[in-house]
Amino acid sequence: MIVLVTGANGQVGWELCRRAQPPGLTVHGFDHAQMDITRPKQTAETIARYHPDLVVNAAAYTNVDQAETNTQQAFSVNQDGPAILATCCAELDIPLIHLSTDYVFDGSAVTPYRQDDALSPLGIYGHSKAAGEEEVRDRLHRHIILRTSWVYGIHGHNFVKTMLKFGATRDTLRVVNDQFGCPTSAGDIADTVLAIATHVSSWETPIWGTYHYCGQGIITWFDFAEEIFRIAKRLGYAGTPTVDAIPTSEYPTKTTRPVFSALDCSRLLEVFQLPQKPWQESLGQVLKELLSDD
Ligand code: NDP
Repeated sequence: MIVLVTGANGQVGWELCRRAQPPGLTVHGFDHAQMDITRPKQTAETIARYHPDLVVNAAAYTNVDQAETNTQQAFSVNQDGPAILATCCAELDIPLIHLSTDYVFDGSAVTPYRQDDALSPLGIYGHSKAAGEEEVRDRLHRHIILRTSWVYGIHGHNFVKTMLKFGATRDTLRVVNDQFGCPTSAGDIADTVLAIATHVSSWETPIWGTYHYCGQGIITWFDFAEEIFRIAKRLGYAGTPTVDAIPTSEYPTKTTRPVFSALDCSRLLEVFQLPQKPWQESLGQVLKELLSDD
């Protein structure tokens, strides 16, 4: 089985490409330069050339604040790109796994969002991702939309790496303590995507549609930062910053984030028997790799 991955140099795309491939499964990754999903001809030609059994779209415009001013680019990558991919996949009868985000929700819920809850994004990024989901649903029956949240990993920019960088030089870090969500390691997302891919032979059954996957546990960014430094110190990290909890009002950003964006992942467990991994366990694995000398 051949799997074609877009956005191969992003956090999740990179993990998809470096993971041990399950038996019988070959992953071909394409980064932005090799395959720009907003270019219909290049996208169609690449997919036709490799004729994969599955396409995974890990490409996205993910800068939440810059999306407020780069609106056109955000919609181009997050709406038009998935539309182009879904059209190509429909023409060649290839299924598509498309990644999406907790930011399609407004954060007013008090229990984890289910995959069929109404979308109500707060900013341009969330709107563009919600529009991309809709394009995929409209154009391709054999799709899986996998929403995730608070992604971090070895490769690329993320909260964990920012904390380690600033923690090495600053005495105090101020981190918001009133936004609740679920940190998710890019490696765990990649494992989940590949596990779904191995079900391809039984894809006659009605498994298509929208799913959620995130790390297990609902915390704030402040909790996350504290745990990062607790584990990092155990692994020999030299920084010893004090982490101060602050309200979001003291850390203004261009776009409003959802106050609560935990995702209910029960459908993934029911249909694919794929459980969530506890967030501390995954964080420990990523920190171990980030802080190793190799
Ligand atoms: P990254 O930003 O790490 O990676 C996205 C990749 O997409 C980058 O390598 C980027 O390349 C590439 N890309 C951008 N535009 C195009 C394009 N037109 N054609 C092809 N590739 C392009 O994202 P993540 O790995 O963190 O995110 C993966 C998925 O998870 C996305 O769908 C995202 O919306 C979702 N998600 C992410 C969260 C997070 O916290 N990061 C939270 C929730 C969901 P380049 O940099 O060269 O432009």
